[in-house]
Amino acid sequence: MDVLTLTYVNVFIACTFTILLALQYKAERQLRYQRYFILAAIFMLLNALISAFSFTTHAVPYWLSPALSNTSSVGAHLALACGIHRHLQLPGKRQWLLLAIVPLYLAQLSDFAAATIANRMLLAIPPVIMLNLWSIRMLSRHRDTELGPVYLAFIGVFAFNIIQFILRSAYMLAEHYQLVQTHYSALIHSVGYFSLTAFAILVFGCVIMLSHSQQRLALLHISERDALTGLLNRRSLSPRLLAELNRTERNHTTLSILMFDIDYFKQVNDTFGHRAGDKAIQHVVDIASQQLRDYDLLFRYGGEEFLICLPDTSEDTVLLIANRLKNAIEANPLTAGQLIQMTVSIGVSSTHQFTEPDTLIEQADTALYQAKQSGRNAVVSFHQL
Ligand code: GH3
Ligand code: MG
Ligand code: MG
Repeated sequence: MDVLTLTYVNVFIACTFTILLALQYKAERQLRYQRYFILAAIFMLLNALISAFSFTTHAVPYWLSPALSNTSSVGAHLALACGIHRHLQLPGKRQWLLLAIVPLYLAQLSDFAAATIANRMLLAIPPVIMLNLWSIRMLSRHRDTELGPVYLAFIGVFAFNIIQFILRSAYMLAEHYQLVQTHYSALIHSVGYFSLTAFAILVFGCVIMLSHSQQRLALLHISERDALTGLLNRRSLSPRLLAELNRTERNHTTLSILMFDIDYFKQVNDTFGHRAGDKAIQHVVDIASQQLRDYDLLFRYGGEEFLICLPDTSEDTVLLIANRLKNAIEANPLTAGQLIQMTVSIGVSSTHQFTEPDTLIEQADTALYQAKQSGRNAVVSFHQL
């Protein structure tokens, strides 16, 4: 493809992504970082429009091309880096950083820049490479998060861009100083322009993938959580427990579960009202959460019934933890407005080999039932029945 056709293709692509990202942002306004990516698409559109204009018109003013087109290219990479910075919620004033565009443009208008293409490139290429490296650094530090695969795709695209920028500028400089034969010049310029096209498609593809993955994770989070307490809900119990049971079998350890239910909770609702009852549930959850290790899982099993999955925990240890939890809840009544004193009954069950999740839950439930039968505010182990 000749360079003129490629510039038209670039205009079309930048225009499409600007509209696409703007529509996406309109639909999902909570993704604030999208505004920076829209700005990046606008800068790319500006750059492509100026290129197309300068290929079709001869008397293009210097302030437009190359001064403004070079600046818009840096601006696109600056906006991309700011978008990533905002998405990762890193501290710092990104808005001010965007103003760096003004001195960059003034530098492009200077006599130094006007003198040679080499000077102009010196003012534009290093900032682009530095911005891309900064983006790579920010993303690689968050590789081990749920969005890691998307970040890896971004890193690959920025690495590709750095390489193509270095190769392209090396060739342009060599051409400027007549170090290379201009035999394949048209072809190499076409490849260079095509690299810009490829970068735009790839980077905005990553941007769209990022927002989709983030939305998908947010929906997954909502579907797995309980609205009142923010705990994992019953729907997410079986798959999580199954994974822990498999791990237990693989590592030859013991998995324990602990099921507890607030005693006489109907009376709390009847005496203090449903809203106070909700607060009481949240209060019990806070106390339980404080007792857990990072890798323990706390589920809201039912109304005021909870389940804790304790990996790598022996039967003796889970009994100690259960008694500690029971005592902590008894010793810490809710004191917001009225004093709400609560106790819990707890059933525990353990296994050191693979067991069906439902079997283990039934065992803990049976032990919990026995704890209620024994007069409540008690801990019972299924294996001691
Ligand atoms: P027991 O000692 O046998 O457990 O007696 P209980 O009164 O606690 O009996 P049960 O566990 O069956 O009671 C559950 C009560 O918890 C009934 C229901 O109204 C109340 N409840 C369930 N979910 C919620 C909730 O989200 N908020 C409030 N406020 N109450 C709830
Ligand atoms: Mg109860
Ligand atoms: Mg109950």
